[in-house]
Amino acid sequence: MMMKNNTFEEIAEVLASAGKVLIFPHINADGDAIGSSAALCRALRSLGKECYILIEDEIAGNLKFLDDGLTTSDTGVMKADVSVCVDCGETGRFPLRAEKFAEAPVTVCIDHHETSKGFCTYNHIDPDAAATAQLVFRLIKAMGVEIDKAMGEAVFAGILTDTGSFRYSNTQKETHLIAAELYDSGIDAAGVAQEIFETVRIERLLVENRAVETMVTLHGGKAVLAYVTQEMLRETGATMDETEGVVGQLRSIAGVELAVFLKEYAPEEIKVSLRSKKYVDVAKFSSDFNGGGHERAAGFTLRCPIAEAFDRVKEYVSAMPEMK
Ligand code: 5GP
Ligand code: MN
Repeated sequence: MMMKNNTFEEIAEVLASAGKVLIFPHINADGDAIGSSAALCRALRSLGKECYILIEDEIAGNLKFLDDGLTTSDTGVMKADVSVCVDCGETGRFPLRAEKFAEAPVTVCIDHHETSKGFCTYNHIDPDAAATAQLVFRLIKAMGVEIDKAMGEAVFAGILTDTGSFRYSNTQKETHLIAAELYDSGIDAAGVAQEIFETVRIERLLVENRAVETMVTLHGGKAVLAYVTQEMLRETGATMDETEGVVGQLRSIAGVELAVFLKEYAPEEIKVSLRSKKYVDVAKFSSDFNGGGHERAAGFTLRCPIAEAFDRVKEYVSAMPEMK
């Protein structure tokens, strides 16, 4: 499935010859998408490039500390020489910016999703990397830029988010080696962790409780499904990004192999998050619904009412041979 990757050196050269660069993280950007984008944006600016991260939705509250004048939602901000998408590998992951992305004469993809196809002029896709931030770290070095505290903290944020603080099975020796090197850049590791994980609002805990209460179990407790609706958000005062931890909590239950969490973004726009613990390939699961992701974390969107979406996913899980 995989095409040939371009080396970081090749991509560094492409970026070196550009004057203006736009960076595209995926929608509902997580810590890896924003961290990778922020680190790369800072590195490019340090080389004198004009660079912005173009976004199409609001940055989650706990990630705002990574953005210090780096992001814009103004597609008119510049006509880029190079468009770079990070932590995603298809235009459907930045739908409202797809046209803007393609406007640049050269495009680059830096990603670690095994479902990414390599649709850009230059691609570096490494599904073994725990986080795209690891790839950005290597790219910045290939660019000859010394990683400073702010870049280091952005990379660290990406790693921390995508590895569940070094707990998930995607964590590699390379992950720890990079994290160790980041200390030399003067990062405040505990400070980053606190910003991301320990600055929650009470509304988050309230909506988490409501969502967990909807839980339905299948296959004798090996699979669990739960959901959150707009009504629950209204009643608790929480925002949708504050439900992001629920799917991990569901997976953490003893005996659970597969956790499925449905989020009602709009009446007929249901985003489904999948997590598995040891053996279920959720990248395949999400591909069956035109989504994508990794073996142990993936997702997709269904365009139907929440009740129908829940039934469809429940039916699929009920029939999964590997859960029997
Ligand atoms: P989450 O459940 O946290 O939104 O996403 C889990 C993983 O699956 C992330 O790596 C994310 O990029 C990927 N993912 C989630 N939804 C989609 C989707 O609709 N399409 C694709 N290609 N990947 C997705
Ligand atoms: Mn990622």
